[in-house]
Amino acid sequence: MENLTRKAFLQKLALLGVTGVGATSLLTSCGGGDSKPASQPQTSMPKPAAPAASNDPCSDLSGLTEAEAGMRTTFKYVTHSTEEGKNCTNCQLYVVPEEGKSCGGCTIIKGPINPEGYCMQWIAKQG
Ligand code: SF4
Repeated sequence: MENLTRKAFLQKLALLGVTGVGATSLLTSCGGGDSKPASQPQTSMPKPAAPAASNDPCSDLSGLTEAEAGMRTTFKYVTHSTEEGKNCTNCQLYVVPEEGKSCGGCTIIKGPINPEGYCMQWIAKQG
């Protein structure tokens, strides 16, 4: 009887041992082991592209208050006019850029103004 119990115990130990080795093998083959294979090739995925920055040089509104920035929306300012023959450069309210700068200004809308822009307040330049 004692031999049977001892035999059963040894069988259980053997099963546990096999199971333990099997689990370790499985973990290692799945990459879950503690050691990292040195020769495994590194797969490098391309990094996602950063969001495209605006290519409009006159889009920096950081110096404006919320209300001032909101005026651009209120007057439906766009950086590139779709109105035939109308843009900021031929608007009476346009302020030409300082020398060496590409963005002008506007007497009623704060912030940098793209010379090719337009808004609903456009008034034909006089003279
Ligand atoms: S009023 Fe409008 S169209 Fe005229 S310069 Fe200002 S933003 Fe441009």
